[in-house]
Amino acid sequence: MSDNIRRLQQAPTKKWWNTKYTNLILKLDFAYITSILQNYFGDNFTITKGEMVCGVFQPKPEFTCEFCGKGRKKNKYTPACFFPTEVGYVYKCSNCNTSHHLYQFLKIRNPEVALKYQVERWHKNLTGRSYNCPEPPKNIKREYYQRKEKELKERNKREYERKQG
Ligand SMILES: [Zn+2]
Repeated sequence: MSDNIRRLQQAPTKKWWNTKYTNLILKLDFAYITSILQNYFGDNFTITKGEMVCGVFQPKPEFTCEFCGKGRKKNKYTPACFFPTEVGYVYKCSNCNTSHHLYQFLKIRNPEVALKYQVERWHKNLTGRSYNCPEPPKNIKREYYQRKEKELKERNKREYERKQG
């Protein structure tokens, strides 16, 4: 996987992603990572390192691996990290070689949060074919549009009533 990540950092001519959105995705990802760190890792993580991605310094949190359990902050050995790439953060562990894009990691760790993340990315047009995060399921999208339509109708009704005095 480290090879894979190195490749993501390079500038191949045929990228399937658009680096125009890299900073936006990393910013959104990091908000979720912050809450993951607080909720699951307590103070057993460090953020002393980072990587340059598209010319911007991005923090790289390191911690005990969620999957193989290896690593202790107090022993200064933290093989797992959230690694910033041009397509978003990737969970990786140098001990067990686990590697997941943030969406996949959330889906394993907390499907509810994964759905929230997915919907948030969808609202920002950052899901689907050119991204490492699929669009939300049809029923979720349908519910969203129905809710929007209802809100619009209610707003129009209030506006109408206000005008009628
Ligand atoms: Zn591991």
